[in-house]
Amino acid sequence: MIHPQRIHSLNTFRPAEGCVVYWMQRDQRVEDNWAMLYAREQALETGQPVQVVFCLVPGFLGATIRQYGFMLRGLQEVERLLERKGIPFSLLTGQPGTVIPGYLLEVKAGLLVTDFNPLKISMQWQREVSAAIHIPFVEVDAHNILPCRTVSDKLEYAAFTLRKKVERQLPEFLTDFPLLMPQSAQVSRHPDMKTAWDDVYRALKVDRSVPEVDWITPGETAASAGLSDFLANRLEGYATDRNIPEKRGQSDLSPWLHFGHLSARRVAWEVQRSKADAGSKMAFLEELIVRRELSDNFCLHNPQYDTVAGFQPWARGTLDKHHSDAREFHYTPEQFEQAATHDDLWNAAQREMTVTGKMHGFMRMYWAKKILEWTVSPEEAMAVAIYLNDRYQLDGRDPNGYAGIAWAIGGTHDRPWGEREIFGMIRYMNYKGCLRKFDVRKYISLHE
Ligand SMILES: Cc1cc2nc3c(=O)[nH]c(=O)nc-3n(C[C@H](O)[C@H](O)[C@H](O)COP(=O)(O)OP(=O)(O)OC[C@H]3O[C@@H](n4cnc5c(N)ncnc54)[C@H](O)[C@@H]3O)c2cc1C
Repeated sequence: MIHPQRIHSLNTFRPAEGCVVYWMQRDQRVEDNWAMLYAREQALETGQPVQVVFCLVPGFLGATIRQYGFMLRGLQEVERLLERKGIPFSLLTGQPGTVIPGYLLEVKAGLLVTDFNPLKISMQWQREVSAAIHIPFVEVDAHNILPCRTVSDKLEYAAFTLRKKVERQLPEFLTDFPLLMPQSAQVSRHPDMKTAWDDVYRALKVDRSVPEVDWITPGETAASAGLSDFLANRLEGYATDRNIPEKRGQSDLSPWLHFGHLSARRVAWEVQRSKADAGSKMAFLEELIVRRELSDNFCLHNPQYDTVAGFQPWARGTLDKHHSDAREFHYTPEQFEQAATHDDLWNAAQREMTVTGKMHGFMRMYWAKKILEWTVSPEEAMAVAIYLNDRYQLDGRDPNGYAGIAWAIGGTHDRPWGEREIFGMIRYMNYKGCLRKFDVRKYISLHE
């Protein structure tokens, strides 16, 4: 039974005769997926078949072949796993507002289910699809442990305000997943039959100049193995090791979490049951639950999440006051992109991202704050940081990225600090501080 608070109706059409279609978007996995389970449950209740469709949109927030390749290989596994369950999968290409309604007519759908994504572009797609269909359309929050729309109905200003709500409601939502029931009835496939993945890959019109990476394998099977590896080898000690950039102390789960190959609820469940030290478990769950879900709250309730206009008034005011402060260094977007600044630590972080597709979490803070320091305005800093983050990080184009960048440059979810040049009262970070915290030379040597 899916918790009713996960379910949000996107229109008021009455139940109709026909199959159930799950339009998979953000949560690209078969098991541990509340939206998939809800679609299956509805199909069972109405005696109708269920099928899954994914709409491949050419061009998504600056994504390149690095992210598209990762996603396509994950979807290939989705198709394979669904086939074992007797559930058809179709890959469509085009704008969702056009192709999804046509597909629903073709397969004679009676109910459309999708997953939750607070990004503006996904909300826009939902509205466009909604305007063009005449069957019930339901969104299920399969990404957050606590359903984003109901855990808080307003913009939370800091982690501590959301944390209280999370602590109160977590036991109600952190429950185990049932397995997805196979579909026994013979369901006629969409005429496309099996997806010709090589053709899809070749036909993709995306930027191929940012290469794919091979240190991480896409898909829910690899994600599950990645989680086991973290639980066995790196959760113990996470509380201290996660902030040491030259060490592999983080979980490295973010690419899988971003593409929905792994459910955060599964991760939290396994971490809670692990025998690792309590401090590390607490520190990890704070990031995975409070910080991650705070980012979804930020994007859902603040459509200006990717601009200076989305900062809190105190932050806009203090940055305005220091708008014309002299900048000792100023770099163009190209210089940033080529890691050609005077700062060897910053350049190493930039290279870590461009080469591996994942910058260490501690370095992301330093990296974005220096972009504020070395551009002519916070507006330009936001644009450069978002462009680079979305282009190179495997986990980019995510609410965590927009919230993280707004935190670093605009004090979002933070408080005012001592006033200084350029930053005003936005928290400052510097090279000397890094020298005190970790082995800067070693980190640089890893990313030369
Ligand atoms: C400037 C900046 C940009 C960022 N860009 C992104 C991004 O594009 N995509 C992204 O997923 N995260 C982003 N983050 C947040 C964080 O740095 C990454 O989630 C984390 O480093 C991912 O690595 P991991 O999975 O090994 O993290 P772990 O430390 O192992 O954490 C586990 C999970 O907790 C969540 N988490 C951890 N730290 C944060 C945080 N500060 N805010 C929200 N959730 C968090 C993530 O889902 C992460 O996968 C950014 C942070 C900053 C300061």
